[in-house]
Amino acid sequence: MIQIDLSGQVAVVTGGSSGIGFATARLFLQAGASVAICGRDAERLEAAQAALATEFPQAQLLAARCNVLDENHVNAFASRIEARFGRVDMLVNNAGQGRVSTFADTADDAWRDELELKYFSIIRPTRAFLPMLEDAPAPAIVCVNSLLALQPEPHMVATSSARAGVLSLVKSLATELAPQRIRVNSILIGIVESGQWKRRYQDYLQQAQDPRQSWQEWTGELARKKNIPLGRFGLPEEAAQALFYLATTLSSYTTGSHIDVSGGFARHV
Ligand code: NDP
Repeated sequence: MIQIDLSGQVAVVTGGSSGIGFATARLFLQAGASVAICGRDAERLEAAQAALATEFPQAQLLAARCNVLDENHVNAFASRIEARFGRVDMLVNNAGQGRVSTFADTADDAWRDELELKYFSIIRPTRAFLPMLEDAPAPAIVCVNSLLALQPEPHMVATSSARAGVLSLVKSLATELAPQRIRVNSILIGIVESGQWKRRYQDYLQQAQDPRQSWQEWTGELARKKNIPLGRFGLPEEAAQALFYLATTLSSYTTGSHIDVSGGFARHV
């Protein structure tokens, strides 16, 4: 197995308190990086911080409450990281969630909210961390995007549309930031077991008649219904591995690109 030593480097993971972001923070810590995570919910953030501190007692870890859509929060988060670590080498724009709605039931405000979330969850952190990334020896930005960018679903019309725009934004950023040696890439995920899906499973449990399906049965049936060739949801760790690859020099000649992490769910060649 390829070993990569990130000691002395700093990784920022937005939405690192749960799911894919949490799994990514773990990988960076395992590789010796200092890590900063953020999220809005204080309890979730504290639980994540405690779990990481237990697993990595020597870890240099900063956990801060920050809504990535709030410019003041993001700037304060960046200032705290600069004061504590003095640098940022890798930025993972991960924070967010999907919106389930068709065109018929998406009102104007919902469209605006969704477009704001998908764009500004990238724009604000990227802008705030750019000065530190510019000074890093091998800087990288990686964005968590969705397969919906290329394969829209009518029941997620606003998310799909915004995701397609994010694909374009990542490409433009990669071109604009290449002279500063900052690589910008994304991953396109299908369905990954994480907080969002755990919450949907809880909803199912509350509504379903007995006998209720176990988590494995419930996700397995969904994967089959959706014709995911690998027959299961992805794990947060599997998305995190792709993010880790794109954030580190393992992918030093890759920019403006994306990796599919969808278990074969993508229908295009
Ligand atoms: P989780 O709900 O497990 O994690 C989402 C994380 O983002 C949490 O830490 C959450 O913390 C944080 N977050 C959400 N909104 C904000 C915000 N405005 N500011 C700061 N932090 C925020 O879900 P996932 O791990 O699945 O989600 C990670 C990313 O992957 C998201 O962008 C999601 O849209 C994307 N994705 C996931 C898919 C899946 O199947 N799981 C499919 C396609 C895309 P808190 O709520 O406390 O702020």
